[in-house]
Amino acid sequence: MDSKNLFKKAAELIKSSQKTMVLTGAGISTESGIPDFRSPGTGLWENMDPTEVLSTKVLFNSPEEFYRVGFKILSSMRNAEPNEAHYILSEIEKEGIIAGVITQNIDNLHQKAGSKKVYEVHGNTREGSCLRCGEKVSFELLEEKVAKEELPPRCDRCGGMLRPDVVLFGDPMPHAFDLALKEVQESDLLIVIGSSLVVAPVNFLPGMVDRLIIINATETPYDYKADVVIREKASYALRNIWNLIKS
Ligand code: NAD
Repeated sequence: MDSKNLFKKAAELIKSSQKTMVLTGAGISTESGIPDFRSPGTGLWENMDPTEVLSTKVLFNSPEEFYRVGFKILSSMRNAEPNEAHYILSEIEKEGIIAGVITQNIDNLHQKAGSKKVYEVHGNTREGSCLRCGEKVSFELLEEKVAKEELPPRCDRCGGMLRPDVVLFGDPMPHAFDLALKEVQESDLLIVIGSSLVVAPVNFLPGMVDRLIIINATETPYDYKADVVIREKASYALRNIWNLIKS
């Protein structure tokens, strides 16, 4: 089926759905200039193994290294701006066409684009916390301390080590994941955008719905299950689908 017909089929599925949720991954933000993990040639994986660098193993065993390498990657995602795909998702949420967005991203771009119901299942780069007393701090404070070579950064209240509130490889899933799970259980359609669907347990979600649309530049392990697979850029695909829904 050519892209035009795939867009049409996707628009029809969305229009006939009672409740639609969206699941996004790093691929929706590549058009905002943030590299994903697994795109061939440009993904971060080309130069390092994120499951090592962004892991609790490194944070707890070599905190200085975590702050010199992994933390820098997190910090670099914070200045990007949303792209058309983020804005369309925010608009179709306002129109009541989707119930919300579950994101694996930590770049805050859905919120910046105006999305209201966003489940950040891999945490965020707005805050950090103390591993000893639980004190919440801003991500900016972590950045300031790291810039001053306070490695690892320490809590001003108790001296414990501070960490970013990002879900690292090795961390348990946050409460947002339980809420996202419930939303998906109540949905009849899930639209996956820009995710390789290889990171567990988020990649269990596509198996839980009756209808599935996947918009991803490269193939995923769930393509066989999807009603529609669109191998196009997220913004291009969403623009076409949204135009068809409106017309
Ligand atoms: P991933 O890198 O494993 O997969 C991204 C997928 O998006 C790839 O399959 C790629 O082909 C596709 N893609 C790239 N650009 C696209 C575009 N413009 N349109 C459509 N598809 C596109 O990412 P993942 O599945 O999200 O899992 C990786 C983990 O990395 C997640 O936990 C996420 O938190 C983290 N991560 C987040 C960011 C971010 O917040 N922006 C960036 C890098 C990694």
